[in-house]
Amino acid sequence: MFRKITIIALMLLVAFGASAQRRGARTKVIAHRGYWKTEGSAQNSIRSLIKADSIGCWGSEFDVWISKDGTLFVNHDDDINGVVIQNSKSRDIAKQRLSNGEFIPTLEQLLQTAVNLPKLQLVCELKPHDNKKQEAKAVKKILKMAKKYGLQDRMTYITFSLPGMKELIKRVPKGTEVYYLNGELTPQELKDMDAAGMDYHYSVFLSNDKWTSECRKLGLKTNAWTVDVKPESQDLLNSILDMDLDFITTNTPEEMKHVIFERGIMAH
Ligand code: MG
Repeated sequence: MFRKITIIALMLLVAFGASAQRRGARTKVIAHRGYWKTEGSAQNSIRSLIKADSIGCWGSEFDVWISKDGTLFVNHDDDINGVVIQNSKSRDIAKQRLSNGEFIPTLEQLLQTAVNLPKLQLVCELKPHDNKKQEAKAVKKILKMAKKYGLQDRMTYITFSLPGMKELIKRVPKGTEVYYLNGELTPQELKDMDAAGMDYHYSVFLSNDKWTSECRKLGLKTNAWTVDVKPESQDLLNSILDMDLDFITTNTPEEMKHVIFERGIMAH
């Protein structure tokens, strides 16, 4: 009798542990624009990539623009210090500095750095350009550069641009994942376009509570942005982690890793 109860208790423990662990304990952390909220770092800097790797993030996200004369630069806004990247020559862009004193990195410099950070996944955001031909050229050049540095297997692509996403899906090597950021496409629509999944603002997941399970059924992955660890929004963070997304993109990767780690411990 005692033995039977012990076995049942153990089975319950395993079942509970497994289900609890599913809720957010396996969500992978992506540093949004690198790990930039730390000493000597800046958004989309080389330093931020190294820092994201140093704390063991699954991946580091960065934004890519192409200059008028065809050089790929890493920057969030369409301009740096007033120089609009898609309309400017690379020599005028390259002299601009980030807030940590680094020069604005080219994609090539960032990827050269990434070669020496072999565990880090590279989440490359193609920015929506005004001229879609220029945007398509950016896609070709990004893919060519990833190949040049042998990083094809470590690249994931994301974009707000629908034509950009279609162009990426058409051209990426087999197995490379492309995600959509803009929030308006359903899981089925993304599946029909051969996207890997949805990388949406967290509010989209909260207001479409069936989408995560639909994605799972369709074999699509889910990523929510930008979810930060803040004492005043703990309930929000818990409800997002409870959705058990595949990835979470955050400006506080160190704290997020800690929260997720603790969920894993609590599950046992
Ligand atoms: Mg971005």
